Amino acid sequence: MPIGDRYKSTMAAENWDAVIIGSGISGLTTARLLADAGKRVLVLEKHFKFGGYTHTFKRNNYEWDVGIHYIGGNLHKPNSFLRRLFDYVSSGNLHWARMDDIYDRIVFPDKTYDFVSGKEAFIDKMINYFPQEEKVIHKYMDLVNQIVKKSLSYYTNKAIPGLLGSLTYPLMSKPFLEYAGRNTRDVLKELGCSIELMGVLTGQWGDYGLPPAQSSFGVQAMVARHYWEGGNYPVGGARMIAETVIPGIQSRGSKVVLSTGVEEILTHKGNAFGVRLENGDEIKAKMVISSAGIKNTFEVLLKDDRRGSNGTVTLDQVQPSSGYYCLHIGLDRSAADLGLNKANLWVYPDYDHDLNLKNYLDDNDQPYPVVFISFPSAKDPSWDKNHPNTSTIEVITVAEFSKHKKWENKEWKNRGDEYEALKESISQNLLDVLYQQTPEAKGHVDYYELSTPLTSRDLANYKEGELYGINHTPERFKQKWLKPQTPIKNLFLTGQDIVTAGVSAALMSGVITASSILKRNLMKQFVN
Ligand SMILES: Cc1cc2nc3c(=O)[nH]c(=O)nc-3n(C[C@H](O)[C@H](O)[C@H](O)COP(=O)(O)OP(=O)(O)OC[C@H]3O[C@@H](n4cnc5c(N)ncnc54)[C@H](O)[C@@H]3O)c2cc1C
Repeated sequence: MPIGDRYKSTMAAENWDAVIIGSGISGLTTARLLADAGKRVLVLEKHFKFGGYTHTFKRNNYEWDVGIHYIGGNLHKPNSFLRRLFDYVSSGNLHWARMDDIYDRIVFPDKTYDFVSGKEAFIDKMINYFPQEEKVIHKYMDLVNQIVKKSLSYYTNKAIPGLLGSLTYPLMSKPFLEYAGRNTRDVLKELGCSIELMGVLTGQWGDYGLPPAQSSFGVQAMVARHYWEGGNYPVGGARMIAETVIPGIQSRGSKVVLSTGVEEILTHKGNAFGVRLENGDEIKAKMVISSAGIKNTFEVLLKDDRRGSNGTVTLDQVQPSSGYYCLHIGLDRSAADLGLNKANLWVYPDYDHDLNLKNYLDDNDQPYPVVFISFPSAKDPSWDKNHPNTSTIEVITVAEFSKHKKWENKEWKNRGDEYEALKESISQNLLDVLYQQTPEAKGHVDYYELSTPLTSRDLANYKEGELYGINHTPERFKQKWLKPQTPIKNLFLTGQDIVTAGVSAALMSGVITASSILKRNLMKQFVN
């Protein structure tokens, strides 16, 4: 059976229990769980590829991921929660390759710091780098552990529908919000952290998109904890996720279709009853589930019942995350020949991430506040067989959507010389950073292509080309309405915006949403 189905107008006449907007990992997970519960589901994807931010694209003999560089969560252990969940949705067909012990390398002008897998090994490393701050390091690690434990009831509460969910909210959410409702910089300062140690401990801030003074300490804790046992990469690249999940949905009588954008969620008197497609077709369903992001769902897709009748959806309390540039690079030698490592590099001009970002936003001629360099082909054990004597690198940094507004109405791949010149100059800047950190790559770059916030807008449908949906501020975590149930009956949410960014978080959002709809705790079955 081919992966995915072609949209046909006759689909509109079929009976659907649920229409799901978007085929990212959250939409597909929700679809699989509902299909397993006997529901007939139609997943509608606007893009011409499945998988949302887990899709890949090819040029010449190269292929690049868009939104995955590594996933933690003990995926290498067959009995871990996350692995059991991935095995379930992919029917055991998705395989993982573990990265080396060093998964992230935090690079400052004067020194480089390695993040190593294993909590104790990580603590030893940090103490070795900062012997005077041993106590602070222990306090930080304990706090991270505590907060992640407290996050479990916070997220479980999201799955509890109706009045019961509201009644249990204070008890289940307050312990987590005590720290998730504060910014990372304040919490780390309170622990007595120096600016240098803070710079290192928050060296993965690009994984959630905000520097310490702006980010919730909840997301810092969850991301740091997520990688304590190291990083993993999907064998065959990110597209294997959708390719292994979709067949299980199809074999249960449900469908997943491409190039089928939803224009409107249809409602009547506060009830969702279907969707209108961009081609004008109307599809009726008993429920509609949107994984298209909060902003899209409430600001674009809901035309009548815009924000729900009772004013609980306070969109002004959440902001879109930043845009980004990604330079996708193809090289004419294998990763082994070039000596490329699996570890990601995080390159910073200074230890103070807040200042780095401010300086850059004030004046784009200042150094990039963060440059992330990833070596996907080195992480994928199947790469060399499928793409002999080649390798790939991705280099990512912050980008402002506003700087690209002037081309926002021009077509993808046809935005004119000025835009191409801007792209070329940014590409050269990013290549300079790459060559400083990885001189082995010099002379072997055979192809490169830069994506901008306009690319992400056009291919992932985030209005401002957002990297991670809505921003991970302390305020975001206090929004009670960021959960599957909406004020509109039979309209549900799923996806990164109701949890946090990250493939495993979005996967979890699918479980939370399906649990809320089916009124059953589906998480339990994955706990070992
Ligand atoms: C550059 C980058 C690097 C990242 N690196 C990592 C990483 O290393 N590890 C990690 O865990 N996470 C990473 N992430 C984050 C991770 O990819 C995302 O958090 C996750 O994939 C989001 O899944 P989702 O299902 O919530 O949303 P999405 O994947 O965005 O899926 C939403 C889908 O809805 C579709 N859609 C939107 N509007 C409509 C409409 N009107 N009609 C029909 N369909 C519509 C979109 O086309 C899209 O396919 C990265 C993200 C980016 C951008």
